[in-house]
Amino acid sequence: MIKSDHITTTTCPYCGVGCTLQLHVKDDFIFKVTTPFDSPVNHGNLCVKGRFGYDFIYHPKRITTPMIRKTRQEAGKRTQAFDLSEWREASWDEALDYVADNLTRIYKRDGSDAMAVYCCAKATNEDNYVLQKMYRALFRTNNVDHCTRLCHAGSVVALLQALGSSAMSNTASQVVMNDVFIVTGSNTSENHPIISLQMKDAVQKHGAKMIVIDPRRIDLVDMAEMWLPLKPGTNVPVFSAMAHVIVKEDLVNWDFVKNRTENFDEFLESLEKFTPEYAEEISGVPAEDIRKAARMYATAKSAAIYWGMGISQLSHGTASAMALIHLAFLTGHVGRDGTGLNPLRGQNNVQGASDMGSMPFHYPGYMRVDNPDNRTKWEKAWNIEEGGLSLKLGLTTTEILGNAHEGGIRALYIMGENPMMSEPNLNLTRHHMEQLEFIVAQDIFINESAAFADVFLPATPFAEKEGTFSNTDRRVQRVRAAHPPRGMSRPDWQIVCDIALRIESRLGLPTAHWAYSNPEEILREMGSVNPDYAGITYDRIDKEGLIYPVPHMEHPGTPTLFKESFPRGRGKFHALDYVPVREQVDDEYPFILTTGRLLEHWHGGSMTRNSALNEIYPEARVEIHPADAEIHGIRNGDPVKVQSRRGEVIVRATVTEKTTVGVIFLPWHFHEAAANLLTNDALDPQAKIPEFKACAVQVFPARESDLPNAEIVLNRGRY
Ligand code: SF4
Repeated sequence: MIKSDHITTTTCPYCGVGCTLQLHVKDDFIFKVTTPFDSPVNHGNLCVKGRFGYDFIYHPKRITTPMIRKTRQEAGKRTQAFDLSEWREASWDEALDYVADNLTRIYKRDGSDAMAVYCCAKATNEDNYVLQKMYRALFRTNNVDHCTRLCHAGSVVALLQALGSSAMSNTASQVVMNDVFIVTGSNTSENHPIISLQMKDAVQKHGAKMIVIDPRRIDLVDMAEMWLPLKPGTNVPVFSAMAHVIVKEDLVNWDFVKNRTENFDEFLESLEKFTPEYAEEISGVPAEDIRKAARMYATAKSAAIYWGMGISQLSHGTASAMALIHLAFLTGHVGRDGTGLNPLRGQNNVQGASDMGSMPFHYPGYMRVDNPDNRTKWEKAWNIEEGGLSLKLGLTTTEILGNAHEGGIRALYIMGENPMMSEPNLNLTRHHMEQLEFIVAQDIFINESAAFADVFLPATPFAEKEGTFSNTDRRVQRVRAAHPPRGMSRPDWQIVCDIALRIESRLGLPTAHWAYSNPEEILREMGSVNPDYAGITYDRIDKEGLIYPVPHMEHPGTPTLFKESFPRGRGKFHALDYVPVREQVDDEYPFILTTGRLLEHWHGGSMTRNSALNEIYPEARVEIHPADAEIHGIRNGDPVKVQSRRGEVIVRATVTEKTTVGVIFLPWHFHEAAANLLTNDALDPQAKIPEFKACAVQVFPARESDLPNAEIVLNRGRY
C-alpha cells in the first residue's frame, strides 16, 4: 500500500455539486482520491469522475511551456495546429509580451468593440474576476462571456426577470425535506450524480414523491411516482397546462399570489388556452397525467422543482424556465426550507464565474453594466476615471464569434473554454474562428479551439492552484494545491495579472490593482463591492465553505433564499405563448436529435478523454428506440450516419428504450463525432442561448470503414 506524503482537501473540478475531495499525494503525484464522511455536500460519496478522473493532470499531451505559432496566422486563412512541430517554445516574458503587444495593437487600431474574452466555468472565482476586470478596466468592453450562455442562460434570464436573482433558491440536500419534487430536463444521475443519490434517499427513506418530466427514460424514472415523457421542446405547454389545472381546480395559494407576486391577471389571460388537452396534442403527454402531476405538486406541503439544461437549451429557453417559475408562484412553493426553484448548474464553477461578472450584461454580483450607479461603484474599486467604464451591453459567446469579421471582433482571449466543441453548428463556428486576427489560448491542452490560437499560455489545473469555486448550492468552497505546477505552467490569475500590467503600461493608464500577493486578496476586492460575498474569507470557508449571500463577517450564510421577499420585491408573472422549436421534423429529417452528457465524461472531453475514464467509455454512441431501429434496419452496435442540415457524424448505435420513439440522443463529449456539428445555432432572443436540445436529423446505416479511425480519435479536431 502506498503511504501518502500528504493529503490535500479540495473541491471537485467537474460538476456543480462541488464534492469535497481528498487528494492523496506521493512524490508530487496524486495516486488516490477519497472524500470525508462529514462533507456537508457529498456525505462521503463521490461519482466516478471525482474518484478516478484526476490523471489528466499527468497526461503526456499536457502543455506546460508557453508556445507561439511558428507561422503567423492571417485572418480568413487561420488554420488549426495540433502538431507541436507547428509551434515553438517561448519564455514567459516573450509570450506575455507577445500577447500584450498584439492585444494593445488591435485595441489602439480598432477600439473596444474589436476585443472579446471567454472566461471559464472550470477556473476559480479569482481567475474569472481578474480576467473580466482586465477586459472591462483596460479595453473598456463588456464583450465578456463564458459557457453559462450555453447551459443555463435561459434559466438565468427568467429568474432575474421574475425574482431578481438567478441562483438556486434552496440547497440540493434539502430534497429530503420535500414531500413532492419535480425533476425536469435533467438526467441527474449522470450529470449531478450525488444530487441524484440524495433524490433517491428522499424517495426511499423519506417518502417523497418524485415526478420526472423528460423525453428520455432516465434512471430516476424507476423510482418516480410519475413520468411525463414529453417531446423535446414542449415544456411550455406542459408546465402551463399544469398551471391551468392549478388555477381551474382552485389549488392556488392565494395568500402567496396576493402578497408576494404581481402581474397575475395578465398571466391568467395568457393561460386560458393551455388546457391539458391542448398540451397533450403538442407534447404527447396524456392530459390526465398532466392533471395528476399538477394536483400532486400543488397540494404538497413542501414541494420543489429541480431542472437542467433540457429546460434552458432551447430557442425559447427563457419562456421554458418562466413556465416552471409560475408553478412555484401559484403554489407558494418557494421561500421556505424544503421548497424552491433549483436550476442545477453544470460546471464546477459556472455559478461562481457568473457571480464574478463573466457575462456581457453584468458586473460581479449581477450588477447591470448599463446602470450608471453600478458603473461608479466599479470605477472606484478599479481606480478608473469617472465615466471610463462602458455602459454598452457586451456580446454573448455565440454573438462574439458571429461578429468575427472585418469591422467586428478581431482579437479573442480564450481561458479554458473550447468553443470548437461547445458552440452549436460547428462548421459555422470553424469559419468564424478562421476569421479572427489574433487568438490567445490559456489552457492545459491544445484542444480544438487552442489549435487555432497564435499563442498558448500553459495554465494549471485545479490540483495545482489555490482559490475558490462556488457550487450549484451557492456554497463558496476552497480549492487547494496538492503539489507544485508542472513544468512552467502557472495559475490563471497570475498569468492574467501579468498581462494586465503589461497592457496597462502600453496604454499609459493609471494603475488598477493587479499586484495581488495571493488569490484571497482578489476575492476580498470583489467582496468589497459585491455584498453577497462581503463576509467571505478563506478562514471562514476553510472547512465547509459558506452559502452566499454572506453580507458580513458574522453572517452564517443563507441556505434558503426569498423567505421574506424577492430581490426585485414581488415575484413577477409573465404572459407566455407556445413557440415551437425552430426546426421541425419532416420527411427528409424525421428524427428529433437531443444532446447531453454521460456519467463518465465531461463537456468537450479535454479532461475526461485524457484520463482513465476514457477507457471506461471510449467512443460516442447514438441512442435510438427499438421501434425506430427496426424500421431503419439498424441493430445494436451498427455504425450509422446521423445527418442534419448543418453536418454529419458517423457513430455506433445503441438500440435502447431509454429514448422515446422519434427521438435520438447523442452525447457531446466526442470530438471525432461532435454532436454540435449537427445542432442548430438558433438563439433564444432574450438569453441568447442556442437550441442544443432539439434539431431535425436523419439516420442512415453506415459501414464499419466509415467510423472515425484511431488516428483521428487520437489527434483531436480532425473532423
Ligand atoms: Fe465531482 Fe460532481 Fe461527481 Fe461530485 S458528483 S464527484 S462534484 S463530478
